[in-house]
Amino acid sequence: MEKLLISACLLGVASRYDGKSIKKVSDEALLLISEKYQLVPFCPEIYGGLPTPRNPSEKIVNEVFMNNGTCVTENYRKGAEEALRICRLLGISKALLKAKSPACGKGLIYDGSFSGTLTEGNGICAELLLSEGIEVFTENEIEKLI
Ligand code: SF4
Repeated sequence: MEKLLISACLLGVASRYDGKSIKKVSDEALLLISEKYQLVPFCPEIYGGLPTPRNPSEKIVNEVFMNNGTCVTENYRKGAEEALRICRLLGISKALLKAKSPACGKGLIYDGSFSGTLTEGNGICAELLLSEGIEVFTENEIEKLI
């Protein structure tokens, strides 16, 4: 069965910065994709060494900062590299990632002002996976995987 890297929080894992889970994918959709793919849950922020809970972070150009000004770019880069390593190790060519995140977002992410404003761009992990030929989908595009 083909493997699919999936943002852990989309499965309800409490990996978000606030220590809460988020599941924007319906149980029905999850069942359908789990019948088609072997799901590989992953959180680039946690694999990058950040604790949970943690301050929220946003990306500005190619850097990521917490809302207290702490630069966490290296954590985000490490998490992205771990995601790519796992994809290579397990032969994964597709990823279903959480929209808008500074790590996982694709196409639109928060703009760094911590005001809920979105701007064009990809999260650090999504960007690396895309640049290495991994197909990236957000939960808003899940129908493309079913
Ligand atoms: Fe979810 Fe990705 Fe944020 Fe981890 S880094 S909590 S998987 S959106």
